[in-house]
Amino acid sequence: MIDLKRNSKKEPIRATGLRSRACSFYSPNQKEDFKISRGRFFNFLTCKRCFYLDRVKGLDPPGTPGWTLNETTDLLLKKEFDYCRERQIPHRLFIENQLSNLVPFDHPEIDNWRDSLHKGLMLRYKNTNIILTGGVDDIWQHNISKQLIVVDYKSQAKLGRLDKQDYLEDPYHQGYKIQMDFYAYLLIGMGFDVHKTSYFLVCNAKRDQQEFKKRMNFDEYLVPYNWNIDWIENKVDEMVDLMNSCQLPSQNLSCKNCAYSEQYAKVISNKFKGDSEGIQGSLF
Ligand code: SF4
Repeated sequence: MIDLKRNSKKEPIRATGLRSRACSFYSPNQKEDFKISRGRFFNFLTCKRCFYLDRVKGLDPPGTPGWTLNETTDLLLKKEFDYCRERQIPHRLFIENQLSNLVPFDHPEIDNWRDSLHKGLMLRYKNTNIILTGGVDDIWQHNISKQLIVVDYKSQAKLGRLDKQDYLEDPYHQGYKIQMDFYAYLLIGMGFDVHKTSYFLVCNAKRDQQEFKKRMNFDEYLVPYNWNIDWIENKVDEMVDLMNSCQLPSQNLSCKNCAYSEQYAKVISNKFKGDSEGIQGSLF
């Protein structure tokens, strides 16, 4: 993926590969608070080296384009659920799924908790300077037990009907479960009573329609998932230890980006052998 660095006027500018603000990365053993989002924690689980280069060494990795269609389903769902939240009534999906004891959770912080870029759920990790954060899509509440239910909206476009078991077992969806575990961990740490079952609200765009005509139709599914937070603290401890160390961890050997970078480095160093001015930097 080619990602050009641009300024606020969208003009291409020189990319340095480094973050410019020192406060956006961590110095081993620093005393000041430092936020680690759910996404960064997931990066740690996927590749410790990339996490370290990003969070501790301040490398600025290429970005990915925004998922504007997915974001639009999230936005419209949010409006539907907010309508029910204000009135404390069950959403139509609750009634269709025999969950009419649920209502969207009404809490003064709900907008902040859903703001994954700037706020999100927040929890100081044990007595460290690490603040764990995560922007949740929604939280519902059982109106008798008052327990909270963690919710994540997902949009996709696959042929046929969704099988809930297959959905959870799909290797590409393992990160979704981690996401849910992490949100449950944060909410429990913040003092809330969280119901064991969370839900993925999956919107599947129907690909078997005969025409577009300015409409895309979706099926909706509520996929229940029983979260598990038992594993989280061991991994966060590992992550904090890594952040406070000065050793570069090993890479994920399945990563195509690293494999590409290594091949790139070989090609460039052969081409410019003896001409060090021609090479713009070294990789790892
Ligand atoms: S293997 Fe390399 S490029 Fe891939 S995630 Fe890890 S450090 Fe980053």
